Amino acid sequence: MAAVDPILCFARAHQAEMTAALRTFVECESPSDDASAVSRFVELVADTVAPDANVKTYPGGEFGRLMVAEMRLPGRRKRGQVLALGHSDTVWPAGTLRTMPFRQAEGRLWGPGVLDMKAGIVFFLFAARALRELGIAAPSRVLLQLNPDEEVGSPVSRPLTEKNAARSHAVLVLEPGTGLTGKLKTARKGVGQFRVAVKGRAAHAGVDFPAGASAVLELARQIDRMAGFTQLRRGITVNAGTISGGTRSNVVAAEAHAEVDIRIQRLRDAPALEKKFRALRPFDPHCTIEVTGGLNRPPMERSPGIAALFGQARRLGRELGVELEESLSGGGSDGNFTAALGIPTLDGLGAVGEGAHAAHESLLVDRMADRTALLGKLLAEL
Ligand SMILES: [Zn+2]
Repeated sequence: MAAVDPILCFARAHQAEMTAALRTFVECESPSDDASAVSRFVELVADTVAPDANVKTYPGGEFGRLMVAEMRLPGRRKRGQVLALGHSDTVWPAGTLRTMPFRQAEGRLWGPGVLDMKAGIVFFLFAARALRELGIAAPSRVLLQLNPDEEVGSPVSRPLTEKNAARSHAVLVLEPGTGLTGKLKTARKGVGQFRVAVKGRAAHAGVDFPAGASAVLELARQIDRMAGFTQLRRGITVNAGTISGGTRSNVVAAEAHAEVDIRIQRLRDAPALEKKFRALRPFDPHCTIEVTGGLNRPPMERSPGIAALFGQARRLGRELGVELEESLSGGGSDGNFTAALGIPTLDGLGAVGEGAHAAHESLLVDRMADRTALLGKLLAEL
């Protein structure tokens, strides 16, 4: 049997410490829409990493602060830069801990944001610590960037992500892996939102029905039309996720609107799909339609650079006794932005578990060490 990898040994020996750190992270709630809560969490991470890094934080406008930590790692001459990317926000509102406390049970850690993605941050911090304490050189400069607005589309952090990625030769995204085997993500769908607003003409549904033009009826027809834009084979989906409209059942509705989510697998499908939305025309000439929105995150397409990075991770995984697989995710992350710049990006390097954004959010305790070690080994090679 091969000797146990030193970084893996380190991670195993520090498992309790990692769990304790993760507990303090999870117990510091950080919903996207609560800027001061997110900034409090960012301060906590900044304090944790400060002994091992030069830490800077930046104002995030209506969101919490952004954090960039330049890690102090062994190795004299640095050639190029590696960007580790994560987010500090979660989808869970303040107070979720009361019903979903951090706990360890059934071989898992549970709690809001534990998987998506506070564990990924902890794994990265301990991977960096392992390199320092074991004296293993990292050939590149390593940055850790944490964004406060990822769960709401990264409107504020995107420029900084792109700036730091553009100077890097690899991006490691600390989002959870796919499924209970923790597949890495080498492709992600692009994500967009449209708002389709219909204006009709109000009228008394009993007294003056013919004078009305129902925005609700018009919207219903448009939703059926938009559903026809889905092409599952090409990886294109269109989902009218919410609708609202009308005032009372006895009034012909003057207004209605829908929020529509789109996903695409290839960037080249975006123009045609956007054109279809812009080309929506009312069935009822007494109604008008206004379409706003568009693609928010470009797809992360599996480039040769991404495939090579995955191949490297798979080889390193084997040295840890793990057979890594890859996956296409329907969800977006900040890795979409970096991959779209042509920077080799490997995503899903965080925890192995299930239930992101759901009440059973949890991670597998016995996969904490090998994920941490994988990050360490990548930093030692890239
Ligand atoms: Zn996430």
